[in-house]
Amino acid sequence: MIQHHPTEQTLLAYATGSLPEALAIVTATHLAQCRLCRQALGTLEATGGAILDELAPVPLSGDALNRLLDRTDEPAPLPPPVLHPDLPAPLNRVALGRWWPVGIGVRYRPLQTAGAAWGGLILAQPGRSLPKHGHEGRELTCILSGSFADGHGHYQAGDLSEPLTDHDVPPMVTGGAPCLCIIASEGMRLRGLLGRVQRLIG
Ligand SMILES: [Zn+2]
Repeated sequence: MIQHHPTEQTLLAYATGSLPEALAIVTATHLAQCRLCRQALGTLEATGGAILDELAPVPLSGDALNRLLDRTDEPAPLPPPVLHPDLPAPLNRVALGRWWPVGIGVRYRPLQTAGAAWGGLILAQPGRSLPKHGHEGRELTCILSGSFADGHGHYQAGDLSEPLTDHDVPPMVTGGAPCLCIIASEGMRLRGLLGRVQRLIG
């Protein structure tokens, strides 16, 4: 049962395509598992379409129709291949780097994405905390398996954590299973080993 969802602002940014790629991948991973958020996204997209309908028309270049008709003959692009069958969609089609140890019982595997945000998988063993950090921008984490708790709540598979303030306590893995999550941030100030790895791999 999913209990934690992205904010409406984040869903709206996703709907308009303005979320940086790494944040959009985390949001899409939650959306693939959350019917409530898919419904909310549908409403936001329909509202955006209605607003577009009401905009005043603007003139197009003379060959715009011909260029559009030419493109309708082109075959639809194929979806990228599945690279990681062990991961849920859409993460399974995203390029990932190698695993890096970033502390005792914690590993990090970066997303190879473009844009202002960065992100990656974090695998933390039971009883371990996720790397210490502060926030300067949006940070999204979607739990793939296991669970963690922080000062804001308790998060399980499918939940999306979007802390609006810094963590008072670092997120700590709960229960007896490792916690695998996908995290993305546009302004995380990393400390410790993960900060060093982040600087090393750029
Ligand atoms: Zn949701």
